[in-house]
Amino acid sequence: MKNLSSIRKNFMASVALNTCLLALAEGQRDLPNLIGKIEPILKKYKLEKENIIIRMTGCSNGCSRPYLAEIGLVVVFYGLYYNLYLI
Ligand code: SF4
Repeated sequence: MKNLSSIRKNFMASVALNTCLLALAEGQRDLPNLIGKIEPILKKYKLEKENIIIRMTGCSNGCSRPYLAEIGLVVVFYGLYYNLYLI
């Protein structure tokens, strides 16, 4: 836990596929992979200690409250089509 980046400690995703029947796309299974792609970018720009919150949901119900995060990903269509919300 001590060595985890701030964004990894703070991320949240809805269960989405393959647990929730309302899900149109991935949530908790896919977000850690995306975090892994974002972490090197944050490190490059020395932002790895910033408390950036990213949240993802598998439908517009927003169970992980993506509309309140600095970065929110909300699926809009079956597959990997997400709206990106930035605050
Ligand atoms: S946001 Fe949608 S897909 Fe995700 S757990 Fe809630 S209802 Fe299911």
